[in-house]
Amino acid sequence: MTTILDGKVASAAYKQVITEEVSQLVAKGKRPPHLAAILVGNDGASETYVASKEKNCAQVGFNSTLLRFDESISETQLLEEIDKINKNDDIDGLIVQLPLPKHINPDKMTDAILPSKDVDGFHTFNAGQLSKNMDTFIPATPYGIVKLLMHYGISTKGKHAVVVGRSMIVGRPMSILLSSSNSDYGNATVTLAHRYTDNLADITKQADIIVVAVGIPLFLKADMIKEGAVVIDVGITRVPDETKKRGFRLDGDADYDKMFDKCEAITPVPGGVGLMTILGLLDNTLKAYKAKHE
Ligand code: NAD
Repeated sequence: MTTILDGKVASAAYKQVITEEVSQLVAKGKRPPHLAAILVGNDGASETYVASKEKNCAQVGFNSTLLRFDESISETQLLEEIDKINKNDDIDGLIVQLPLPKHINPDKMTDAILPSKDVDGFHTFNAGQLSKNMDTFIPATPYGIVKLLMHYGISTKGKHAVVVGRSMIVGRPMSILLSSSNSDYGNATVTLAHRYTDNLADITKQADIIVVAVGIPLFLKADMIKEGAVVIDVGITRVPDETKKRGFRLDGDADYDKMFDKCEAITPVPGGVGLMTILGLLDNTLKAYKAKHE
């Protein structure tokens, strides 16, 4: 029987714990954790993500602030806005929603965020801490994925994990976490594959756990995995679909329907990793708050 790794179920369980913690803080007269998000321009997918982050903040009792800027904003102006939030003691965490317009360097922006408020974990300092297995803000998507694996009791120790995609927000930190010595989600033998990997199917067929994050709909086919594999599908691509009210559907990177019976466990899209990513962000915001207040 294939297990559906349900992000809705797992994130609800974790969010319940956060909600209780926040209500205890508020009962003691403290202010709740506060997440700020910067959104530049009006990219449709980014609008959806940011709205979902705000909704989830409200659900667990966090304050949230959305700062919107026109896509004509300059790098200098955006750096000034980031600086204001860095200096605002009422805000614990800040994210700059990516992608940014072409004239703005994303690394420059994420490195301008105070590392103690960098709840996306993209700052060079926090990325360095992660690679040294030190306590830090783990980027929300890989963090959500390890929490999902833990929720469903999927052990990674001694397993061969293949991560497909090496981006700094998903694949690379994912490979670091799985290969770390952390007893909850590490100790796997990790292969990190990317666009120049030869004979990818030969590699994925050896994997006990596959994390696929390439952004190509249905990229990972049923004949590329072995019987009993655990498949974590990070991809979310809007595919035009006139049968849908919104005019598009969301496709993952894995051919879910065709591989379902072959898998020991698999994440659906939507309803899998996306919800866990938001959970990761909430957890990081609470961590930033606690570091300041305890
Ligand atoms: P990216 O474009 O930064 O990176 C894609 C990676 O895929 C690259 O490292 C590239 O080398 C690799 N790749 C491309 N073609 C390949 C091929 N043919 N074979 C092997 N590797 C190949 O993307 P990203 O930001 O990591 O996002 C990947 C996907 O995950 C996108 O669909 C994105 O929307 C989605 N995403 C989802 C969440 C979530 O919360 N569910 C979060 C972040 C990203």
